[in-house]
Amino acid sequence: MSLTEEIKEFALDLGYSRVGITTAESFSRHIEEVKSRGVMYDFFVKNPGNPLNGSEVKQLRPSAKSIISMAWDYSQKSFPRSLIGKIGRIYQARCYNVPPDRINGMRYQLMVNFLKQRGCQIGHGIFIPERWAAARAGITTFGRNNFAYVEGIGSFIVLSSIVIDEELEYDEPTMEIGCPKGCTACMKACPTQAIYEPNKLNPRRCIAFNTLFAQDGNSEFITSHIPADIRDKMGTNVYGCDVCQEVCPRNQARLKAKLLEDEFLIKKSQDFSLAKMLNMTDEYMIKMRPLMYSYIKEKKYFQRNAAIAIGNLGNRDYLSDLEIAMNDPEALVREYAAWAIGKIGGRLAKQVLENKYAQETADSVKKEIKTALFEA
Ligand code: SF4
Ligand code: SF4
Repeated sequence: MSLTEEIKEFALDLGYSRVGITTAESFSRHIEEVKSRGVMYDFFVKNPGNPLNGSEVKQLRPSAKSIISMAWDYSQKSFPRSLIGKIGRIYQARCYNVPPDRINGMRYQLMVNFLKQRGCQIGHGIFIPERWAAARAGITTFGRNNFAYVEGIGSFIVLSSIVIDEELEYDEPTMEIGCPKGCTACMKACPTQAIYEPNKLNPRRCIAFNTLFAQDGNSEFITSHIPADIRDKMGTNVYGCDVCQEVCPRNQARLKAKLLEDEFLIKKSQDFSLAKMLNMTDEYMIKMRPLMYSYIKEKKYFQRNAAIAIGNLGNRDYLSDLEIAMNDPEALVREYAAWAIGKIGGRLAKQVLENKYAQETADSVKKEIKTALFEA
């Protein structure tokens, strides 16, 4: 058996659904695309960590020869109904950017260990554009919603790759768009029109991006502020958004399939509530952490997202929770709680806002309260 065959067999044995191999050549089209988007992607292009450098693998590691790309199917079990539309499936599945002491992190580590045992030199810490690598390695095609699709599975996959210095046998690229002719269902369904052309996304308008990345200190080009017109359209999404994948005909077989239940998720879903997230304690954050690895480190951002979700529900039963949140030590939480109270509206809401305005000291919160009073 050749080294290529051994690697592929081992990856499949670990449970990866597809594995393909491509060269370590530059992802020049990806670089051009990202650069052509101007201010929409300045947070990425001008990031001090230079993530775009990962698209020039050989510049970072001249000895690199091959990229092994693997797709993990994360929708093999079902997702609790109560978490759909709140937490993106990929985060519920605990398979994205996971630490190595968890099963999905360990799988990747086992792959690395295997390659080392076979004498391969590994290129660590290179930020590979995973969707481009997977298409070039022949395991996915693109969707017009920008996601990568594995034939027979759909887009509920997570991609990971490993750079090695050994030459292998390379797969035929599948760089094409695999969507049915004329389909634009994802573009029509996107609540914020973030997909402004096929395969072109404005991340600033994307709900997933706003829930995860709108944090102070992430980049000089990003703040914790979520524009009001986006907040209105976020629905109850507090971590990610799956709308453009849910409507996709390429995902319907999996979405309609009768899948086994995930006992862990069922248990977590019983603990989940927007009210608890709004007035989140440290213990609650630890409890829900496995569903929300990686992007949000400070609980105030979960609280902000919960306030927006509650505001969009428009349910007066949450007014007392929002009133408590108006006493939160973080001005950000008070701002978004005020916005949510204004969205719910009515006499009681106005009364709460007026009382809080009299006590409030932060200008940013006072400004939100004034706007909310106008809306209420
Ligand atoms: S993740 Fe949500 S907001 Fe972002 S493009 Fe898809 S549907 Fe639109
Ligand atoms: S909804 Fe249609 S256009 Fe969009 S990704 Fe799916 S198949 Fe492609």
